[in-house]
Amino acid sequence: DLRIPKIASSIRVIPDFPKPGIMFQDITTLLLDTEAFKDTIDIFVERYKGKGISVVAGVEARGFIFGPPIALAIGAKFVPMRKPKKLPGKVISEEYSLEYGTDKIEMHVGAVEPGERAIIIDDLIATGGTLAAAIRLLERVGVKIVECACVIELPELNGREKLGEAPLFILVTSD
Ligand code: IMP
Repeated sequence: DLRIPKIASSIRVIPDFPKPGIMFQDITTLLLDTEAFKDTIDIFVERYKGKGISVVAGVEARGFIFGPPIALAIGAKFVPMRKPKKLPGKVISEEYSLEYGTDKIEMHVGAVEPGERAIIIDDLIATGGTLAAAIRLLERVGVKIVECACVIELPELNGREKLGEAPLFILVTSD
């Protein structure tokens, strides 16, 4: 797909952010490139349209950028998976481990129904901990995960091994 190299080159890498030694993949420059942003959304839409997907779950924060245009284009609802204590209604939550300590993501009770088919969107998979927690959260309420989709994969961290049966679709590999 000739669109992929342009998407890849629109992503900026910022060394030592947010701390020394981290090469931060910055998708805000992709968003400034109107062609690359449109191509990114189009590729996901082409892949998921007509597949009986009724839920696009977006992981805070950058899953909130890519998820909604995909949801609108495929006729699915958008479900935000948020950091703790952000959602005002009753929530279910799922914990996951970080390098130091743990974190949680939360979803509103009633946002999805058992038997629905979902994709989970984020900008990037690193260790896979965040997406694995999102999968557990949706599976706990009886939702089928058709696929996880990210713009970028950091393959050295083997994040895809944490996703179990759920396939992972990515546009750009960063090494
Ligand atoms: P994981 O749980 O280790 O796979 O980390 C993935 C989460 O961390 C995603 O929500 C990403 O948005 C965020 N993340 C980790 N590294 C980067 C990066 O280099 N750029 C942007 N987001 C990152």
